[in-house]
Amino acid sequence: MYYSNGNYEAFARPQKPEGVDRKSAYIVGAGLASLSAACFLVRDGQMKGEHIHILEEMDIAGGACDGINDPQKGFIIRGGREMENHFECLWDLFRSIPSIETEGVSVLDEYYWLNKKDPNYSLMRATVNRGEDAHTDGKFTLTDKASMEIVKLFMTRDEDLYDKKIEDVFTEEFFESNFWLYWRTMFAFEEWHSALEMKLYIQRFIHHIGGLPDFSALKFTKYNQYESLILPMIKYLESNGVDFQYNTTVTNVIFEITEDKKVAKQIICTKDGKEETIDLVEDDLVFVTNGSCTENSTLGDDNHAPALNTSEGGCWRLWRNIAAQDPSFGRPDKFCTNINKTNWESATVTTLDNRIPPYIEKVCKRNPFSGKVVTGGIITAKDSSWLMSYTLNRQPHFKEQPDNQLVVWVYGLFTDVDGDFIKNQ
Ligand SMILES: Cc1cc2nc3c(=O)[nH]c(=O)nc-3n(C[C@H](O)[C@H](O)[C@H](O)COP(=O)(O)OP(=O)(O)OC[C@H]3O[C@@H](n4cnc5c(N)ncnc54)[C@H](O)[C@@H]3O)c2cc1C
Repeated sequence: MYYSNGNYEAFARPQKPEGVDRKSAYIVGAGLASLSAACFLVRDGQMKGEHIHILEEMDIAGGACDGINDPQKGFIIRGGREMENHFECLWDLFRSIPSIETEGVSVLDEYYWLNKKDPNYSLMRATVNRGEDAHTDGKFTLTDKASMEIVKLFMTRDEDLYDKKIEDVFTEEFFESNFWLYWRTMFAFEEWHSALEMKLYIQRFIHHIGGLPDFSALKFTKYNQYESLILPMIKYLESNGVDFQYNTTVTNVIFEITEDKKVAKQIICTKDGKEETIDLVEDDLVFVTNGSCTENSTLGDDNHAPALNTSEGGCWRLWRNIAAQDPSFGRPDKFCTNINKTNWESATVTTLDNRIPPYIEKVCKRNPFSGKVVTGGIITAKDSSWLMSYTLNRQPHFKEQPDNQLVVWVYGLFTDVDGDFIKNQ
């Protein structure tokens, strides 16, 4: 899709690029970005599927868009992803990805019909005192001064925000507002995070400010994102002959660097524990889509808190090795060295006790077993020390989920302080 001038160029199909039959693509990672790159190469680039190689360090695709039914640990989702109208590339892509649920329709058709019939909005955005309405009541509670601070951030040049924290650009009046509560819990921002990143998010989601208090701006998939988005893409790519190589960690891409260009010459990877190299020729394309959101994540269980994993991780090692070759490849350490300030914790809870769903219904004001929107986005326990939020998306959230169970995703923003009922450690 090429949205350069109205929709004139948006719907015309590209002509087959010259020489594409000679080309191959190597894509590092098998998350949403990688799978999308591969789908676009097949659909628009008209590259032969068997010329596309996806190299993934894990034994499963999907990256941060996971949804796993682990025989030992049960249902696991590390994130509950909110979507909206202006995911331009995503919707363009999914109009071409066949549904794996209903024959003859696309993933986008199905998603659109579902959200039209059952639009998302929340009836309880935040609670206090373990389930009582915190009465945010759709209000931003922004003072004039706090509103001006938002506008000022919006108008500040990116360069002037380098190395500035959110707490450097806002005052207490802003931090006391409902706006900040909605914002920080929805996007997982803490006061010491980047002011520039906050500005970029405001720019990106400015059209949703009105729908922020009740999440009417958002849309959700039928099941978790792995089953609803990732699996259909994998099926599409496999049916086109794309080559998936799992348990393959790319450790470096060697570049030949001259004054006016940088050319990838070799991929170095470890496959099933053995080092391998892939020599690249002029017709090879390399895409590095190594993500990071869930790199180094560890799983706990009913009896153990997840242990903090501070090892380097494939995503960061690769970026560091690439960055070492030229400063224009960025500075990974800026993003990965302050683990105490950037970590977060989430949990997937399955209700096995039939006494729990009535409490959920009382709080969210909807029947969680209706198959329709339940909480309509996160509910924040405003007075919890970890600033916990939780969400129940449409149930069942997993196709295999038994009828009498509910899957809840919970996350805590402040992992550096003790919890209210169980101490941190
Ligand atoms: C808790 C949570 C909530 C979220 N909420 C939202 C939301 O509400 N809305 C929204 O739009 N987005 C949300 N996201 C973000 C969204 O899920 C990610 O932006 C998106 O999935 C990233 O896709 P990606 O392919 O870029 O990266 P990833 O999904 O991280 O994929 C990268 C892949 O590369 C692999 N990899 C990394 N290094 C190497 C290597 N060296 N060699 C081989 N393979 C490698 C990884 O194993 C992984 O599979 C959320 C994410 C999380 C974790």
